[in-house]
Parts: sequence; C-alpha cells; structure tokens
Amino acid sequence: MLRLVSYLASLALVAVVLVAGGGTAQADGCYTWNRTLSEGASGEDVRQLQIRLSGYPGYGAVLGLDGQFGPATRSALVRFQQAYGLAADGVAGNATYSRIYSLQDDDCTPVNFSYAELNNCNSTWAGGNVSAATAKANALVSMWKLQALRHALGDQSIRVTSGFRSVACNNAAGGASNSRHLYGDAVDLGSGPHSLCRLAQQARNHGFNGILGPGYPDHSDHTHVDHRGSRFWSASSCGI
Ligand SMILES: [Zn+2]
Repeated sequence: MLRLVSYLASLALVAVVLVAGGGTAQADGCYTWNRTLSEGASGEDVRQLQIRLSGYPGYGAVLGLDGQFGPATRSALVRFQQAYGLAADGVAGNATYSRIYSLQDDDCTPVNFSYAELNNCNSTWAGGNVSAATAKANALVSMWKLQALRHALGDQSIRVTSGFRSVACNNAAGGASNSRHLYGDAVDLGSGPHSLCRLAQQARNHGFNGILGPGYPDHSDHTHVDHRGSRFWSASSCGI
C-alpha cells in the first residue's frame, strides 16, 4: 500500500512538472525571460539571449553580445530554432525559452559543460590577463559555443583538455605568452569520439575566431578554439 501511495505521488509530481514545462511563466534557476524578444528590442534580456545564441552566428561569423537585437541576432536565433526543430520565426518566445531552460544549469552553464571543466588551473579564475570575473564570463560564452558545436555533431561528447590558465599555469604548460587561455576564452579539445579535424572544421560555424589544429605547430594532439578579436584559423592537415 505504501508503495502504491508513493507511486501515485510520483505520478502526480510528474504531471505537475509537465504542466509547468508547458506553461508561460516558467522560473529558471539561472535566468528567466519575461517578455518576447524580436528585432529592435534591446536590454539585458537580449544580451542574455545572445550569450545562448553565440554558437549560431553562421560560418565564420561572431555574434556581438551588445544587448541589441539586430539582424545578426535574428539570424542566429533562426539557426538555433532550426537546430532544435522549433518554428524558425526569429522571435524568442516560450518555445525558445523552454528549450534554453532545458539546456542550461542553474549556474547558467550549458548542461554538457561546466566551469570546473573549463578551468583545471585554479578555482578562482584569477591570475590571467583579465580579471577573474571577465575570464569566467569569457569561459561561459565559450561553453555556449561548444554546446552548439556538440549539438551539430550529433550530441556526442566533446572532450575538453584545457581551458582558462593563470600566467603561472600557462608557463607551466609551455603556452605562448599571449595565449588566449590567459583570457579564459580558449579551449583545447581532445579527439574522441570526433577527430581533431572534424572538430576544427565544424568549429568554423560556431563563433570561434581562433581555430588551431593539426598542421599548426604544436597542435597535433588537440584542436584549440578561442574568441580572439579577429579571425585566425590554421589547421593545414584538415584543409583549414
Ligand atoms: Zn590552446
């Protein structure tokens, strides 16, 4: 009897969760959007949306995170909606927000990546070339780009081998003195299940201005991606 009661209680809980998921005003542990957003809108809620869309700028492009919903943001949103089988209307409403809520953890990282994974140097994010807050914010954007890359590659895992580095960690790793790892936005990816070339090639679609892979010196065992200020892609063994 107790087991039956507990079973019925869990059914009821499932029903409540399902109803909440389909409702209009869903609270999220990270961030909740309270209005529909379309071209012409501006504000912090637009900027929060842009961070989640940063992996959908189109080939070779980088989405600005300026809080202004312009044509590039609309195009990124359409790509995101298409990627997840939503009505691709370029308007962020409940369907888009529900999908984003399902993709983010309470600390705002995408579900398949974590701050710890992007920093095996220290836990404070200090000691790099930017403030700890900036390094961490940069890493968050990298993770959303990686989440888009991961989804495009069939939702198979992506292996992060290095992310943020303090100056001390970067020196110990033998990194270049101007390495983007010092800014928190660089990520090294290892092979398996995807090849390093597959990762480098696909990364061109997901907002990475920096891509270094096989064929570039010291990159035979990983593919490096970052968001430096202007494009530099080199992975000659991969046709890049
Ligand atoms: Zn690197």
